[in-house]
Amino acid sequence: MVSSNDVQRLFLQAVISRRVLSYKLAHTVWLKCIDAVKETVQIPVPRAEDRAAWDAFVAKVNDSLNDLDLEFRHLHDEQNGREMYALVNRKGDEIAQLATDYTPTEIAYFKAIVEQIMLAPHESFSVSSLAALREVNFLKANMTKTQAEVVLGSFVAKGWLVKSQRGRYSLSTRSLLELLPYLKSTYPDEVLECTICLEILTRGIACNTRNCKVRLHGHCFNNYKRVHSTCPSCNESWTSGTKKIVPVGEGAVKDGQDFARRVRKKQTEEASDEEEDEDAEGSHEPSQTQGPSQAQSQSQKTAGKKGRAKATDAPDNSMDVDEEGPPRRSQRKSRR
Ligand SMILES: [Zn+2]
Ligand SMILES: [Zn+2]
Repeated sequence: MVSSNDVQRLFLQAVISRRVLSYKLAHTVWLKCIDAVKETVQIPVPRAEDRAAWDAFVAKVNDSLNDLDLEFRHLHDEQNGREMYALVNRKGDEIAQLATDYTPTEIAYFKAIVEQIMLAPHESFSVSSLAALREVNFLKANMTKTQAEVVLGSFVAKGWLVKSQRGRYSLSTRSLLELLPYLKSTYPDEVLECTICLEILTRGIACNTRNCKVRLHGHCFNNYKRVHSTCPSCNESWTSGTKKIVPVGEGAVKDGQDFARRVRKKQTEEASDEEEDEDAEGSHEPSQTQGPSQAQSQSQKTAGKKGRAKATDAPDNSMDVDEEGPPRRSQRKSRR
């Protein structure tokens, strides 16, 4: 017997076959599903602009997905502000989503890249192609750089990573939607939230006042500045020069600027080698007053904040591009 549940069923079938869909498309699919059953079952047909009806439908869908730990979740695309939807695993505190398409080594590689993106200095949430390839050196299993290039291309093609014109990798909307539980549980100190929409933020703008935690997506900032000209938290005027606002995401690093590899701080001090290397690297950050290990033990956001200010001031220093490991400066010199 046909019932209103069939709308949900048809809808979910249509959604499963797509990875991520825009609000517009999701809404159109919904109306088509209603169309398909309305001959046989009495069902109100919502007006196209009836947002409340859509939200109620999504809530109903999510009720029925609850027991399966699935969620029809939405997020705004950080680049264009479009509202995107995907059917995602609510409990995914591991990256199981890639398991059907990739080998364990490739998944380990993906995680390593996600780590470099999440730990990237200056809240740049991106990693250069060289740094991405360099990660194969730290995998437990063997992967050549040629294999890595192929699988990187696949991560981009399948919508897990975005590669910019500058050749930097960052997280896609799909990753932000599907891997949100993983990102939050693995990088609780690095995950930033937009001050306005409270969604995860990996690109946008930051207030440049020391210790001010305001971060906004580009689209949220555009809406905000139509009405306001000061920071919502510290009240600093945002009109008196561009220095009051600095980019979050790829815009926070210059072309050719690259950094030593970072590793997540674990219970043990196994990260300390890496951090010392960063110290050695620190000469392009002249205003640095404290070592990264100190900075890491402080609030990450504060540390990131200071770091970013340095990035903006730092001269474009292409000698920081390194291909493998976190080399000492002398090694880099000898290579040139
Ligand atoms: Zn926002
Ligand atoms: Zn502020």
